[in-house]
Formats: sequence, C-alpha cells, structure tokens
Amino acid sequence: MAPTSVQRPRSADPRGQYRVGIIGGGQLARMMHQAAISLGVDVRLLADAPDESAAQVMGDVQIGSHLDHDAVLAFGRDCDVVTFDHEHVPTDFLREMEAEGIAVRPGAEALVHAQDKAVMRARAAADGQPCPAWEICGGPEKLVAFGNRHGWPVIAKTSRGGYDGKGVWKVNGPDEVAEPFDAMGGLADGDQPIQILAEEFVDFTRELSAIVVRSPSGQAVAYPVSETIQRDGICVETTTPAPGMSDERQCEIQQMALDIAGRLGVVGVMAVELMERADGSVVINELAMRPHNTGHWTIHGSRTSQFANHIRAVLDLPLGDPSLTAPVVVMDNVLGGSVQDLTGALQHCFARDRSLHVELYGKQVRPGRKVGHVTCLGSDVADVQRRARDAAGYLMGRDNA
Ligand code: ADP
Repeated sequence: MAPTSVQRPRSADPRGQYRVGIIGGGQLARMMHQAAISLGVDVRLLADAPDESAAQVMGDVQIGSHLDHDAVLAFGRDCDVVTFDHEHVPTDFLREMEAEGIAVRPGAEALVHAQDKAVMRARAAADGQPCPAWEICGGPEKLVAFGNRHGWPVIAKTSRGGYDGKGVWKVNGPDEVAEPFDAMGGLADGDQPIQILAEEFVDFTRELSAIVVRSPSGQAVAYPVSETIQRDGICVETTTPAPGMSDERQCEIQQMALDIAGRLGVVGVMAVELMERADGSVVINELAMRPHNTGHWTIHGSRTSQFANHIRAVLDLPLGDPSLTAPVVVMDNVLGGSVQDLTGALQHCFARDRSLHVELYGKQVRPGRKVGHVTCLGSDVADVQRRARDAAGYLMGRDNA
C-alpha cells in the first residue's frame, strides 16, 4: 500500500502497530498513554523510577535517566517515534538521535526554544513576536545595569532547568541581584550551560495560554485561548475561553501561536504562555512543546483532547477538532494538601456534583505537589469556577471538617 504521508514514521512491528516512545514518566505521559490506548498505539516509556505516575500504569517501561546518553539512544532505537513528557533531555542527545534517523517529535531545532529561554527570546525578537525587554546578564553588575535602564523591579530567570516557578526571581533592586547567580548552580540541566536572563517586569493584569498542535506535514489546529491563574509559579486554574476576550483578539492570539509553531517547525502540542497588560496587549512569557498543564481542560472540554492530538501529530495523522464541548470550561489543579486518600475523598465530590470530571495521577500526596486536576463544564463563568474550586479545594483538604 502506498504511504499516505511521507512524514509518517514506519512501524517496525509486523502487525503494523506503532510504538511511540515517551521520555519522562510524569502525569503528562500517563495521560498521553490513555489517549494512545484508544488509537491502538503501543507506548513505551523511559522513566526514572517504577513508581512514577506513568510508569505505574504502563506495560512497557524502561527504567533509566533522560540524562543518560546511552539509555536515551537505546530507547530511541527501539521506538518508531520519540516524544516527551518534559523538555529536559539534553539537546545534543536529540540531535544525535535525529542524525541516526530516529523520528524525534518535536525535533531538536524546535524543542530548543522550549528548553532554553534565552534561545526563545532571541528567536521571538528576530521574528518580531511581542516580548518584554530582555538581556543575557553575564554577572550581577549587568543585572544592576539592566534594572537601572529599564526600571525596578526586574525578573531574573535561569535560561534552562527551571520549572513551576523555580529558577524565576523578582529582583526588587540592586541589593538583591546576587541571589539568582548564587542559586543557579543548583539548577543543573545535564551538561547544558545555564545563563541568567533579565526581563522587564511586566505588570500584567492576567496570564493567558494559547495551545496549538501541528503535524509534520503542516496541518495545525488552535484551541480556544485560556485565562490561567498561577500561584507561586504553579498553575492553579484555567478558564476557557478567556473571559471577556473578543473573538477578534482571540483569533489574533491563536494566529500568533500558529505562526510560531509553523516558523519553528513544531510537531505536537505547543503552549504559548502569555501575559496580558491592562490595554489588552500581550507579551510571550514562555513556550512549552508537549501537552501542557494549561491544556488539561481539553480532556473533557474539547472535542479532541490535547493528548489525543499530540499522539495524532507525532504519527502525522490528521488532527482532531479542538472546539469546545460547553460554553465555559474550568480546570483546577489538585495540589497535595491534608488529604492522603484522594480516591476516598471522591465520595463527597461526586455525590455533590455529578457532572464533575476528575483525573488523579497516582502520585504520593506531598504538600504543593500536583496530584490531579478537576474539570467542570457549564455556561456561567462564576458558577463553573465555584464548582471547580469547591471540588479541588475539598481534595486538597480545605473545609473538609
Ligand atoms: P517556569 O519556567 O518556572 O514556568 P516562567 O518563565 O513561566 O517560569 O515564570 C513563572 C511566572 O513568573 C510566570 O507565570 C509569571 O507569573 C511570572 N513572570 C515570568 N516572567 C515575568 C515577567 N517578565 N514579568 C512579570 N512576571 C513574570
């Protein structure tokens, strides 16, 4: 049979079954696996430990580190296509896999923009995408000069290795410039060099997320734009579509995200995290190239989830409809609190709200750790947010007396 697409990886399996390799054993891999099951796609996992969220539920698991060159290369050789649960695989390993002919999706050329915030800023500036003022600072004195030029406070970030707000500092004045430089040694990212990036402090009114998916043959879809609430660098809630945003504005933002995905040659899901100013203008905060926390609402709130579309994209299958299944969709993260028995706590949540959706990740509850999320659908923003907050709050141990 003639191939339907030159881009689609060839299955090495006699049944023609594809094997997608996922590097990283977190909840994103767990939810990608769930989507892959429906498509009859085998998934193989490279995880650090057997008790990781995805490793618990998958049959084909290789235990090894994403920083172990030989383990990553051997893993890649055994898969039809390789994709990721996180962006911390050293870029050199990805390039080596590609040089061997392994299908790595997204590829190194694109993924480096999600791995390295300095590379992303340079490219976005060159492409004329909206960014805050920024500069690489070789030492504390450069950060002082940047602050004096652009005004205090400033944001300092490590170019690599940060996540969930770790590796981001609000620097209020020249007295505080030493901290990011002192702390960056603790944020190793394999052998990759880490730099300090200074950014103008954006006095945003809210944060937004634009999620798009692109396939190797260039098909792309855009999900409705979400408003996101981040607390201490962790996403706690998304509301979709972003309340109060005009269709025209939403289209412009979706178009910008599609444009970035096309220019960078992204394959799979890409999230563009944005900060919106009081006048409605936006600047890019960062890019992620994998299913993203701000897209978890799509499992129940969209006709095709980000996980299903990611699996379709890496196999170069036609992408699914990203449109909403309800006028308003709210997702709240469940962060570890005083409740250890989360499944037991569902008794109350489901009895109270029978249209509630819950995903739990099988993770040991620890304070502040992402252990699950809830999704509510409806038509009134305040009502849907209240239902989601009630359920997530209960699972976190608030007001459970
Ligand atoms: P991480 O990689 O840990 O997710 P981010 O770069 O997304 O880090 O930054 C974490 C949070 O810090 C953002 O969600 C935003 O609230 C805030 N932030 C980041 N950059 C800026 C900026 N230039 N101005 C103001 N706040 C910022």
